[in-house]
Amino acid sequence: MLELLALLVGILVVSLVAVVGLVTTRGQRALPPSRPRPGLDYRPGTGDDAEVPRDTPTRTVDVVGLPDDLLGADTVSVDPVEPQLDVPAPTAGRLSRLRARLSRSQTTLGRGLFALLSRDVLDEDTWEEVEDTLLTADMGVAATTELVSRLRTRVRVDGVRTTSELRPLLREELVAAIGADVDRSLHTAPHPDGRPAVVLVVGVNGTGKTTTCGKLARVLVADGRSVVLGAADTFRAAAADQLQTWGDRVGAETVRGPEAGDPASVAFDAVQRGRAARVDAVLIDTAGRLHTKTGLMDELGKVKRVVEKHGPVDETLLVLDATTGQNGVVQARVFTQAVEVTGIVLTKLDGTAKGGIVVAVQRELGIPVKLIGLGEGPDDLAPFEPEAFADALLGDEAAL
Ligand code: GDP
Repeated sequence: MLELLALLVGILVVSLVAVVGLVTTRGQRALPPSRPRPGLDYRPGTGDDAEVPRDTPTRTVDVVGLPDDLLGADTVSVDPVEPQLDVPAPTAGRLSRLRARLSRSQTTLGRGLFALLSRDVLDEDTWEEVEDTLLTADMGVAATTELVSRLRTRVRVDGVRTTSELRPLLREELVAAIGADVDRSLHTAPHPDGRPAVVLVVGVNGTGKTTTCGKLARVLVADGRSVVLGAADTFRAAAADQLQTWGDRVGAETVRGPEAGDPASVAFDAVQRGRAARVDAVLIDTAGRLHTKTGLMDELGKVKRVVEKHGPVDETLLVLDATTGQNGVVQARVFTQAVEVTGIVLTKLDGTAKGGIVVAVQRELGIPVKLIGLGEGPDDLAPFEPEAFADALLGDEAAL
C-alpha cells in the first residue's frame, strides 16, 4: 500500500514537471528574441535601411487628420479635361505639297515622255512609244490618240525641239486633257435656310470610302465648317467605329444605327441631327457591296430618297481606287446608274504609276474628279487642281 502511494506521488511529480516544462517552452516561443536594430543598436550596413526611423507604424487618418483643403469639403471636384482635337492641315495648295506622292506616275509618265521627246529624230516609232507611255499610265485610248495628235501638230508647226521648249507644250496638252475649266467645286456650304449641305459618299468596298469620309470631314473642318457624320454602312461591322474615330479626332459627331440596321434610317437620322445641331455639312458613308447590282441600286436609291425628305442631296461623291485602273471604271458605272454622281474621289494615287486614270475616268464617266487620295495619312486628301496635277506628273524641270 505504501509502495502504491509512493508510485502515485511519483507519477504526479513527473506530470507536474512535464506540464511546467511545456508551459515554459511555449512562453519562450511566443516571445521572439529581440533583434538588434540597424542605426540604433549598430551602424547600418549593406541590406539595412539607411535612416532612422524605419518601419514606422502605419498611421491612420484618425491619427493624421485630413489635409486642410479637404476639411469641410463635401465633394472633391476635378477640373474636366478637354479632349485634344486635331488641327487638320489647310486645304489650299495641298496637292502641290503632296506632289512627291505622285512620284511613281511621274517616273513613268513625265520622265518617260521627256526621254522620248528629246530624241534627235521624232519619227513614227517614237510617237508610237509616246502613245504607249500614255496608255501604260492608263490614260485611255481616246484621250491618248487625241493628245498625241495635237502634240505632233504643234511640234511640227512650232518647230519645237528642245526639252525646255517641249515642256510647256506637253503641260498645256496634259492640262487640256485633264480639263482645266471643269467645275470641281464641292457643294458643302449650308443652305440659306440653315439646312446643312448633304454629301453622300458611295463606292465599292475597299476603295477607301470610309477613309475618304473621315478625311473629307477634316478638309471641311480645316476650312472652318462644322460637320456631322452618318455611318450608313451598317453592313461592315467596323465601318461605324472607323468613321467615329475619324470624327472624334476633329470634334465631329457621328450618328450610328444598330449593326445590320437600315442604312436609309441612319442616313435620315444623321441629317436630322445635323439640322438640329445647325452644322454646315452632313457626310454620309454608305455600303458598297456589289454582290447583286439590283440590291445595291435599290439600297442606294432608298438611302437617297429617304434623305431627300429633308431636301435635295447636294453632292454625291463616287470613290474609286486608282490602283484598279480601268476595271474600277467599269464597276463604277453601276453606281452612276443607281444615283446621280456629281463628283469622283480618286484614291490611292500614291500607290500607282497610272496617274493617267484621272483623264480616263472623267472621259468615260463624264464626271469631274473633285478630290484625290495621296496616302493613308489623315490629311492626304487633296482638292483636285489640273495644273498642279500636270506639274506633279511632269516633275521639276531641274530634275529632267
Ligand atoms: P471602304 O471599304 O471603301 O470604306 O475602304 P476604307 O476606307 O476602309 O479603306 C480601305 C483601305 O484603303 C484602308 O487601308 C485605307 O487606309 C486605304 N486608303 C484609303 N485611301 C487611300 C489613299 O489615298 N492612299 C493609300 N495608300 N491608301 C488609302
